[in-house]
Amino acid sequence: MKKPIYVTQPHLPPLAEFIPYLEEIWESKCLTNNGPFHKQLEQALCEYLGVAHLALFTNGTIALITALQTLRIVGEVITTPFSFVATANSLLWNGLTPVFVDIDPESCNLDPDKIEQVITPRTTAIMPVHCYGRPCDVERIELLADTYGLKVIYDAAHAFGVQYKKESLLTHGDLSVLSFHATKVYNTFEGGAIVCPDAKTKRRIDYLKNFGFADEVTVTAPGINGKMSEINAAFGLLQLKYVDDAIASRGKIDALYREGLSGIKGIKCLSEPEDTVRTFSYFPILVEDDYPLRRDDLHHALRKEDIYTRRYFYPLISDMPMYRGLPSANPTNLPVAKRLSQQVLCLPIFPALDFGIAESIVDTIRRMQA
Ligand SMILES: *Cc1c(COP(=O)(O)O)cnc(C)c1O
Repeated sequence: MKKPIYVTQPHLPPLAEFIPYLEEIWESKCLTNNGPFHKQLEQALCEYLGVAHLALFTNGTIALITALQTLRIVGEVITTPFSFVATANSLLWNGLTPVFVDIDPESCNLDPDKIEQVITPRTTAIMPVHCYGRPCDVERIELLADTYGLKVIYDAAHAFGVQYKKESLLTHGDLSVLSFHATKVYNTFEGGAIVCPDAKTKRRIDYLKNFGFADEVTVTAPGINGKMSEINAAFGLLQLKYVDDAIASRGKIDALYREGLSGIKGIKCLSEPEDTVRTFSYFPILVEDDYPLRRDDLHHALRKEDIYTRRYFYPLISDMPMYRGLPSANPTNLPVAKRLSQQVLCLPIFPALDFGIAESIVDTIRRMQA
C-alpha cells in the first residue's frame, strides 16, 4: 500500500540534536515562566525576522485573543471570512462583533475598496489576514486606520519570514500575530507570538500572558496563561537552524507546481505577489469552470490516489453557525470569498515532499483533464 501524502508534514530536526536541550532543562529545573530558552528564542526570532519586539505564546489563538486585549479593543472589528476559524473566534472570545468584508480575488485578502463603507462609530479595529503569506494591502489599510482612528492587528499566522519591500511584513499594523503550530512553516509543536513595535507594549503583553502579574504581588489586568514552555522554546531554537533550508525546499516545490500546472486548462495558480520574498506556506490552486471536474470532485479523486489536499478556506467563517446570523455574513455581501471558497484547493507542500510525488500530483491533475 502506498503511503498517504498529506497537505503538510511537520518539519522535525534530528532527534539526537534535541537531547542536549532537554538535558539543560533537567539540569536547570526551569520549565517555564520566561526561562533561559524562552528569553533566547524571543531574541533569536527578533533577529531572524527583523522585528523590534516579540512575545512568545503557547499558541497562535491565545496570542490573537491577547493581542485584542493588549489594545483594549471594543465594539466592531472588520475582518475577512476567508481564513482559519481562529481569526474570528478570537473576536468572539473578546465579546467583539466581527464585521466581514469581501476579499480581493488576486490577493485573497481583505479588499481595501470595501472596508471604508462598513466603518461605523462602533468600529475600533481591523483584523486582516495575510492569507497564504500573501501581503495585505498594508499601505491602504494603514491609511484607512489613520483616517478613522482604528487599530490594526494582523493575523500573520501564514506570514512567518515573509518580506515585503525589503522589510519584514510583520512590522506593519499595531500588532502582528504568528502561529508556530505543527502545520506551519516554522513550528514549535504548538506555539505562537505577538510582534509589537515598542518595549511598553511588549511589557503589557508579557503581563497579560502571565495572568496579569506585573510583579510578585501586583496583578494589573485580567490576564490569561499564554506562556510558552521551555521545551517548546528550546525546540524553537533548534528549528531555527533548519528553517532557511525548509523554506528553500518549499520554494522548489512551489516552482515545480507552477511550471507543471501552467499548461492545464481550468487550473489556476495564484500570481506571485509583487515586492515580496515568500516563504511558501501553502500552495493553493483554483479549479475553474473550464476544468472538467468540480473542485470537490478533484479533491476526492486525488484522495483515491492517497493524496490528501485541503480546501483552505471552505467553508467560509461567515457560513459557520456562530457567524452566519450576522448581517455582514450574508453571502451576497461576500461574492468573491464565496467563489474562491468553492474553487480553492491546497496541494501538499512541505520540505520533505519528494519531487517525484509532486510531479505525480501534477500528472494526476493533468490526466483528469484529458
Ligand atoms: C494556524 C492559524 C491560526 C491559529 O494558530 P494556532 O497556533 O493553531 O492556535 C490562526 N489564524 C490562522 C490564519 C491560522 O492559519
